[in-house]
Amino acid sequence: MKKVPFVTKQQIEEIVKTYPTPFHIYDEKGIRANAKAVKEAFAWNPGFKEYFAVKATPNPVLLQILHEYGIGTDCSSKTELMLSAACGITGGDIMFSSNDTPAEEFVYADQLGATINLDDFTHIEFLEKALGGRFPKTLSCRYNPGGVFKMSNGIMDNPGDAKYGMTKEQLFEAYRILHEKGVERLGLHAFLASNTVTNEYYPQLAGQLFELAVSIKEEIGVSLSFINLSGGVGVPYVEDAEPNDIRKIGEGVREQYERVLVPAGMTDVAIFTEMGRFMMAPYGGLVTKAIHEKHTYKEYIGVDACAVNLMRPAMYGAYHHITVLGKEDAPKDETYDVTGSLCENNDKFAIDRKLPQIDNGDYLFIHDTGAHGFAMGYNYNGKLKSAELLLREDGSAVQIRRPEGPMDYFATFDGMPVFDELKKQMEAVSKLGS
Ligand SMILES: *Cc1c(COP(=O)(O)O)cnc(C)c1O
Repeated sequence: MKKVPFVTKQQIEEIVKTYPTPFHIYDEKGIRANAKAVKEAFAWNPGFKEYFAVKATPNPVLLQILHEYGIGTDCSSKTELMLSAACGITGGDIMFSSNDTPAEEFVYADQLGATINLDDFTHIEFLEKALGGRFPKTLSCRYNPGGVFKMSNGIMDNPGDAKYGMTKEQLFEAYRILHEKGVERLGLHAFLASNTVTNEYYPQLAGQLFELAVSIKEEIGVSLSFINLSGGVGVPYVEDAEPNDIRKIGEGVREQYERVLVPAGMTDVAIFTEMGRFMMAPYGGLVTKAIHEKHTYKEYIGVDACAVNLMRPAMYGAYHHITVLGKEDAPKDETYDVTGSLCENNDKFAIDRKLPQIDNGDYLFIHDTGAHGFAMGYNYNGKLKSAELLLREDGSAVQIRRPEGPMDYFATFDGMPVFDELKKQMEAVSKLGS
């Protein structure tokens, strides 16, 4: 599929009058249509619930839009739990899928009524102690089968190398203990492959987990209440790739349900998911302005965003498609490295990329930044995180997170003598204008 930005040059020229670049912008219309499609794809399962992985895009406005479609939150830290609770998303609408979890976070998750997903066998005792000698009524256990997870199209991932989850033996023992301790609703969770661009991943994972659930019932008499397929449903970052079809994925899971669970008499098992990337990545873009061109041993375009705003290319060498707004149909007859301003040579949004000729002042739309984009931001080189905007269905834009200012960067020096001096510097700099 051709990658077309959800905003035009004209729209961006209007938006930058109020909100200067760089910023991440999210497409409300796309988010809503996709949330609805996910709900419909799994409507065959009455207990179905998607728990949006908050770490992908921790913005309360977006969490609340998703919540309108019955979507809860998948949290993994204290602050993510706080965000969720502040949005009114609590109780069974929270999945707490953390690992290496501090005791106080288990306590807080329990207080909110979240479903706690235990990453390790030793966390059974740890949780019991943290909660003063009791267990919640509902608990989930995270499974790691080890080895490699392969799909027929050659995509594979390496659970055996991953720090998450329990072995099969630990898992069975965990259910035995938790059942004995009076936990009423037990669930199974596994995340075995990341960013899978194939409709096969969830059905294959589901088949494997459903078979496991049947043997858990047969061997230890525990009938699981829910099975959580977690995240890992991907999006194509490159152009001309076939995106996942959530209807086919939902149908594929249903076929496995009918093949494995129904014959075993397990007809009321709820299906949960914790998608992050699939829910949000295509519906976000990073908009940045070209401010320098440099001709040395290569051709460079310097933009006003940097890896602080989008870390995936620097961190994983990830490809993000770039459209030069207003030059959508121009021939791509230049080869550029598109760089940010960090003192790190990996701060490049694109390397040797064929693009139309770029002039200073052009706006670049970096695609698919709606998940694991803004959220991974950091503050290296004293760079500040950008604003987040929401493109409403009527075409207007609202700010759903202001950009960081210098005092946000300095905030943790409060109480130190230098803090007042930093404030003075900040005031002096703000008088310089832009
Ligand atoms: C990161 C994560 C997700 C979301 O993963 P995506 O690849 O964004 O779908 C879901 N569950 C857990 C436990 C995670 O750590």
